Amino acid sequence: MEFSTNFRHTWAEVDLTAIKKNLKMIRQNYPNKRIYVAVKANAYGHGYIPVSEAALEAGADALAVASLDEAILLRDAFPEASILVMGWTDPRYVSIAVESNIELTAFQAEWFSQAGSVLKDKQEQLKIHIKIDSGMGRIGIKTKEEAYAVIEEVTKFSSEFEMSGIFTHFATADSFDLSYYEKQMNYFYGMLEIFSPIRTPETQIHIGNTAASMRFPDDMVDGIRFGIGLYGLYPSKEVEEVSSYQLNEAFSLQSRLAHVKKMKPGEHISYGATYEAETEEWIGTVPIGYGDGWIRKLQGFEVLVEGEKSEIVGRICMDQLMVRLPKGYPVGTKVTLIGENGGQRIRIDDVADYLETINYEIPCIITNRVPRIYLTN
Ligand SMILES: *Cc1c(COP(=O)(O)O)cnc(C)c1O
Repeated sequence: MEFSTNFRHTWAEVDLTAIKKNLKMIRQNYPNKRIYVAVKANAYGHGYIPVSEAALEAGADALAVASLDEAILLRDAFPEASILVMGWTDPRYVSIAVESNIELTAFQAEWFSQAGSVLKDKQEQLKIHIKIDSGMGRIGIKTKEEAYAVIEEVTKFSSEFEMSGIFTHFATADSFDLSYYEKQMNYFYGMLEIFSPIRTPETQIHIGNTAASMRFPDDMVDGIRFGIGLYGLYPSKEVEEVSSYQLNEAFSLQSRLAHVKKMKPGEHISYGATYEAETEEWIGTVPIGYGDGWIRKLQGFEVLVEGEKSEIVGRICMDQLMVRLPKGYPVGTKVTLIGENGGQRIRIDDVADYLETINYEIPCIITNRVPRIYLTN
């Protein structure tokens, strides 16, 4: 769902120049390695197509998503781009992937057997990335037995599968303690050994997410999968602390005052009448609410108006919320929920901290009702 109009005065700005800068920054460390940009989940809420376009223009080698549906959406927009699905795909759909030249992730012997038969019938070849579960515990080959079973199937269907990649994913690359990261690395290298008989010169090894690629450039083999850093966000406070990268945050969230009034002491605000004005107070109404992803737990958090912090008071409604203003501003005055306003700034990390979650989640939860406006300069 996307509106053809934008009359409400609530919008997100996505700075594509920031996205390009972030990509170019990581590229400096990896002049010759393959950079997959993670653009799943609507490019972490920033917008599939404009973000992918900016990243490709800035030199990304491939787009990485979670599902075949996301891959097909991107294929329609980018006929030439290299696209990888990092999640599990139903083997019945392998021909669809082949026909759209989409690379799939696989790790189950049974999957290779089913997919191999489908491909053989159609005389098709699928580009495959083998996923190793080196300790994330999500998807991938965990044991040697599983590895041998997969190798057997891949060997059986050697014309049906092209070995494009082998990869793994780290669970703790963003924390100070590196013991688990090292354990995963060792496990992965042991597995790589086992896969050497079916590796080809074209098989790319890609292991690093943003955290690993920013911290351990020497460990990354042939490629990296760069996600959160592309959007100008650090994978964790630890990474931000030790990192020499100056990332550029791309996402901001804006609205405008729809109504401003003076409350008398003892008067109440919003559902449940839980907020009571103590003195004469200026209250502004902002047209954004939990139906836009600005969830009710954000009550008590602040927005910026004319560079001043203004607290969200009373319960957040589906489409609107109220803020306590330092003075009476005119209707139409800009309200910043994320980003800069009058020299002050609310970072995505501030919102995440308030909600006791991670920055990744914040742009993802801003719904499609909020139009994304793209800044190209
Ligand atoms: C999302 C994802 C990434 C990107 O992770 P970031 O921490 O955002 O860099 C890399 N690899 C896989 C398998 C992913 O699902």
